[in-house]
Amino acid sequence: MKEDINVYNNVLELIGNTPLIRLNKITDNIDGNFFAKVEAFNPGHSTKDRIALYIIEQAEKAGILTPGDTIIETTSGNTGFSLAMVSIIKGYNCILAVSSKSSKDKIDMLRTMGAKVYVCPANVSADDERSYYNVAKRLHEETKGSVYINQYFNQLNVDAHYHSTGPEIWKQTQGKITHLIACSGTGGTISGTAKYLKEQNPNIRILGVDAFGSVLKKYHETKEFDNDEIYPYRIEGLGKNLIPSATDFDIIDHFMKVSDEDSAHMARAIAKTEGLFVGYTSGAVMQAIKQYGEEGEFTADSNVVAIFPDHGSRYMSKVFSDDWMNEQGFFDSKNLEEAQKIEFIK
Ligand code: PMP
Repeated sequence: MKEDINVYNNVLELIGNTPLIRLNKITDNIDGNFFAKVEAFNPGHSTKDRIALYIIEQAEKAGILTPGDTIIETTSGNTGFSLAMVSIIKGYNCILAVSSKSSKDKIDMLRTMGAKVYVCPANVSADDERSYYNVAKRLHEETKGSVYINQYFNQLNVDAHYHSTGPEIWKQTQGKITHLIACSGTGGTISGTAKYLKEQNPNIRILGVDAFGSVLKKYHETKEFDNDEIYPYRIEGLGKNLIPSATDFDIIDHFMKVSDEDSAHMARAIAKTEGLFVGYTSGAVMQAIKQYGEEGEFTADSNVVAIFPDHGSRYMSKVFSDDWMNEQGFFDSKNLEEAQKIEFIK
């Protein structure tokens, strides 16, 4: 093909440079200007494309990976999908150890992308040899020429955002950003993006979002790991029951906890008000904006950038299913009647 024809050589060239989209209605009653960094525009539909590509390319540069080698990770979620996608293009095998809690849809999606999936029992402790952590470690030890991504404890996860998400936001806001707000799971997104932004302007406020049932907020405030903070919750990808070394707690100014129910309703509201079909944790970020607003965090001059991590299509059988919402007790009877008003033509 002629050189002047504008084509992408492969899907990986579309990673990053996601749009910043103004939120127009959902923030109506909150002071400030609000913008969403919509990571669903990555080709793998999430922010994890960035770390998958970056970590693999760093391993290639270090001579640790050559085509035909194997990428290993413990994830059923976005990171697994992105790693599988990058592996296809670059010629690696991809092995993912996932929990038996993962839905069949998710496992099928990873297998569609060429990954070898090991389903490990969910109801065993992390140190059990069958846990997905230990299965991944064992596979890594047994597989010659393999790399274990280990995103919770891998500094390259942070560096990926330092080199891409941070500079993009600085440029897109022409340096006018006053607040960054992002979910913390591994902490890679918020830590790396914040590091770059604070280097440009140390006054930018870094606001974290955590889940009820996770240890991050309390650890940030007290440096104490409190087991009593831990209980099951439904939002996936947000919060944690351990302290990831990928989280830079010192760079985060404040954490806000959000509930499963509020975040679910907010994810649905973002679709209905802004026409943006984004995932459960985008709802969590939006809910946190509301709560931070109520605490007086923002003024009319604030330019707030929120990271929306992934696409809504991954949650069709959860947040965007009326039946699921009802099973969780997230609808009162009025809402349910309204939500289920589908007209069937006979
Ligand atoms: N939202 C979703 C849907 C995720 O999968 C993740 C990653 N665990 C996050 C938010 C949090 O991002 P990070 O791991 O970079 O803190």
